[in-house]
Amino acid sequence: MSKAAHIEIEHVHKVFKGDGGDVVALKDITFDIQPGEFVCLLGPSGCGKSTLLNAIAGFSLPTEGQIKVEQKLIAEPGPDRGMVFQEYALFPWMTVEENIVFGLKIRKENPDKITKKLDDLLRILKLTDFKKRFPKDLSGGMRQRVAIARVLALDSPIMLMDEPFGALDALTRRSLQDELLKIWSEFKKTIVFVTHSIEESIYLADRIIVMSYRPGTVKRDIHVGIQRPRNPASPEFNALKKELSELVMEEQNRFEEAQLRGTTGD
Ligand code: ADP
Ligand code: MG
Repeated sequence: MSKAAHIEIEHVHKVFKGDGGDVVALKDITFDIQPGEFVCLLGPSGCGKSTLLNAIAGFSLPTEGQIKVEQKLIAEPGPDRGMVFQEYALFPWMTVEENIVFGLKIRKENPDKITKKLDDLLRILKLTDFKKRFPKDLSGGMRQRVAIARVLALDSPIMLMDEPFGALDALTRRSLQDELLKIWSEFKKTIVFVTHSIEESIYLADRIIVMSYRPGTVKRDIHVGIQRPRNPASPEFNALKKELSELVMEEQNRFEEAQLRGTTGD
C-alpha cells in the first residue's frame, strides 16, 4: 500500500471571470496537510471549498500560488489523488465489480492481482453480495461504497472527497462515516473532505479548516483533539460544535446578505 502524502498549499488565489465582474473565490490560502492527516474543509455554500479541492485535484488550477504533493507542483490530475464526489460518478453501464476494477484494467495490472484486490475491496466495503448489480439498482449509500472502493483500488495516497455523504439519510451517513474512518486508519491515507456539516467535520477530522465566504480564506484552523470514536453527545463534542457554529454562522450571514444584494453570481 502506498504511503500517505504531504500536501502544501501556498498563497493560492483563484479568480473566476464573469459577465457580472470577477469573483475572487480563493484569496491567499496557505496551509500544509501532513501525511495521513484527515482534514475537513468546512464552510457555508459559496466559500470556495470545492474550488480548493478541485485545485488540489488538478482539475482547475489556481490563478496565483501553487499546490504541491510530495514537493511536486500540481499541474494536472494524477493517480496520486483519488476523488469521490457527492453525485455518484459511476459508470451506469458497468456492474459494481466492473466499476471497481475499471482503473486497474486501464493500467493493465496483472489479472490475478486485480481479482485479489477486487475481492478484498468488496469485502472491506461490504459489497460482495452486490458485485453483479448495476448502479441504478443500488441505494445511495451503496453507490458511495462503490465510489470509495474504486478510488481505493487505485492505491492513491490522497483521497479527495466533495460532500460525499451529503445526499444520504442520517443513519446511512453515520455508517459510511464509520466505514471511512476504518478505511483511513487501515490504509493510512491523507484525506481532504469537504462538508458544510459542522457535526460531520467534528466526527471525522483531525483538523478542521473553517473557510470564509467571498473571498474564501482560512478563517480558522482547528485541531480536533477529541479521542475516537467520538460521541456527538459528549460535552467536548458540543463545546467544539458551539465554537464552530458561531464561526460558520458569521459566514452564512455574509452569504445570505450577498444573496439579498444579488451578488452571489449563482
Ligand atoms: P463551495 O464549494 O464552498 O460551495 P465553490 O468553490 O463551489 O464553493 O464556489 C466558490 C465561489 O466561486 C462561489 O461564489 C461560486 O459562485 C464561484 N464559482 C465557482 N465555480 C465557478 C465557475 N466555474 N465560474 C464562475 N464562478 C464560479
Ligand atoms: Mg461545493
